[in-house]
Amino acid sequence: MPNITYIDGKYLNYEDSKIHINDRGYHFGDAVYEVIVFNKNIFYDFDGHIQRLFKSLTSLEIKFSLSSSSLKIIINNLIRLNKANIGSVYIQVSRGVAERNHSFHGLNIKPILTIIVTKKSNIENNLNGVKAITLNDNRWSRPDIKTTQLLPNVLAKTLANKNNAYESIFIDDEGFVTEGSSSNIWVLNKENQLITRNLDGKILSGITRNSISLFAKKNNIAVIEKKFTQIELYNAKEVFLTSASSFIMPIVQIDDQNINQGLVGNISLELRKLYFNNFKHS
Ligand code: PMP
Repeated sequence: MPNITYIDGKYLNYEDSKIHINDRGYHFGDAVYEVIVFNKNIFYDFDGHIQRLFKSLTSLEIKFSLSSSSLKIIINNLIRLNKANIGSVYIQVSRGVAERNHSFHGLNIKPILTIIVTKKSNIENNLNGVKAITLNDNRWSRPDIKTTQLLPNVLAKTLANKNNAYESIFIDDEGFVTEGSSSNIWVLNKENQLITRNLDGKILSGITRNSISLFAKKNNIAVIEKKFTQIELYNAKEVFLTSASSFIMPIVQIDDQNINQGLVGNISLELRKLYFNNFKHS
């Protein structure tokens, strides 16, 4: 449970952390967000997440005046105030407060920045691998923008959990994998090539995805960005997901199909190691 939060210029006790009834984030999901994990003095992919936040703001024409360096100062203050060693930072910027009306044309309002720090006891997660289910991708046509409008993702993740699975994998109308409800999806094919969907506007450009792609290439693991089918997913040698909070999570079962005989694959583990090592030394 977070102790101190940041809302619109103020550091507040958890009980006093209230959002205005007319915040457009609350009414319309008219807000963008990021999640960044930290471990002692290490932030994982800090700059990438902050850059994407500004890109999302621009996509939605939210005029946010804070600089990334000011944002970093606030985030560090909040971590210190919470005496948090390991955890995650949730950063949200909504368009602001206005009488409820769909259009924001001509509105001159100040965006509202909220930040929540959640403490964790460690960042290591389940390395036995997890189960995933597939379902039809029924999201809006701009999943490349990281907005808080997440109901299809919320329903998909809930369905996964109801089926004792960790993640739901979205499949588009043509049978191609898009991404997970809160992650990017990767397969290792029989030729030992890593494949993840290209940035065609139908997935979020994951910051962890980007780093993993770089680290893999640097270590002579072939990466191909292209669409792949649900069948290729089932037949893959290895499957894993990437996200800021799960890093690299091996997937060992999808629907009723075992992947790699239900065992965590070597490449998934190697990439996970490469990811952590990279930040250890930075
Ligand atoms: N796709 C979706 C839909 C997500 O919600 C996330 C997590 N934010 C990702 C992909 C992975 O992105 P990242 O690695 O930047 O956390």
